[in-house]
Amino acid sequence: MSASDPNAQSASDTLDPGAQDYDLGALSGAARAPVPKRPALLDLDRDAVAAFLGDEPRFRTDQVWTAVNEKGQQPGQMSAIPLKLRSRLEEEFPPALTPVTEQRSGDGRTTKWLFELNGGAQVETVLMRYRERATVCVSSQAGCAMACSFCATGQAGFERHLTVAEILEQVHRARTAAEPQRLSNIVFMGMGEPLANLERLFTSIDRITTEIGIGSRKITVSTVGLVPAMERFAEANGQVGLAVSLHAANDELRSELVPLNRRYPIADLMNACQMIRAKTGRRVSFEWAMISGVNDQPGDAKDLIRLARKADAHVNLIPLNDTPGYPTTGSSPQQVKAFAKLLREGGVNVTIRSTMGDDIDAACGQLANRGEQAK
Ligand code: SF4
Repeated sequence: MSASDPNAQSASDTLDPGAQDYDLGALSGAARAPVPKRPALLDLDRDAVAAFLGDEPRFRTDQVWTAVNEKGQQPGQMSAIPLKLRSRLEEEFPPALTPVTEQRSGDGRTTKWLFELNGGAQVETVLMRYRERATVCVSSQAGCAMACSFCATGQAGFERHLTVAEILEQVHRARTAAEPQRLSNIVFMGMGEPLANLERLFTSIDRITTEIGIGSRKITVSTVGLVPAMERFAEANGQVGLAVSLHAANDELRSELVPLNRRYPIADLMNACQMIRAKTGRRVSFEWAMISGVNDQPGDAKDLIRLARKADAHVNLIPLNDTPGYPTTGSSPQQVKAFAKLLREGGVNVTIRSTMGDDIDAACGQLANRGEQAK
């Protein structure tokens, strides 16, 4: 990936998270939230750490780098570092995230955090504990410009891109909270369109694989179909999974649910999916939020079968969670099962995603920063 160059992400670059990596015109608008004025430690590449340490012995760079990037430590936790240097680091580099709230679902399996960023915007992160693994769902932007009609984040609008440190600190905090379970999977399916924040996403993935030690095949990035970014993603990220939020198999309905479809219609999206399959050997997955009477009919299944077979894609059916502001409801469990059966009969691999954390608004499409709204 492009970020394998250790200088690819300088501290100053990460401090420009209002800049649009892709010109999304009316969909994106300008960043509404202030960007951080100072980098956090996780924003620095190795050279920037060495430059900051100046005349310190050379091994200190490795020590600080490992403490920050492998262990996810804040300066106060770096017991191997002299106290004076710890204080310097603490004064110079603010933490990327300040916890505001932490909620745990009734069954204890899901934890959702609301974090405040430097500058005041807020994001949410969700940790899901399964019997054999733990997965963190990470936000890549504060708010989202894509305005998908069924999504709480989209309804709240775009604030700004997250910095590398803001992305990585979510992973480190979730990893610590998951213990003694091992954090094994990362999904970029929280707030925001990850491929709209592409360079910081690449740097974060690079750091996750090389420093945290979670392999690319255990990472999944979602997109609503930012076609030019999908091409770059395939070139750079090989084995990282891509989940396309499809939700409709005809342009009329999809443009209503996912406005970006007006710019990159289904035909372009399918070409990009086929290109990814050919280039990386990995299957794209199609995410399909089941909306009662909207996209759960036999005709929808037929259209979806045609697309999934063409792209050789796996389909994930997502029982839709209630979202204030969107008038329709999720399909019934019977309807979800019947739809899945039609897809299987049509030769498509399909999974019904289990819904976790809906009692704390942590399920798909429910991340909307309500802590801030409630103020
Ligand atoms: S579904 Fe994803 S891309 Fe669409 S508005 Fe919500 S967060 Fe943004």
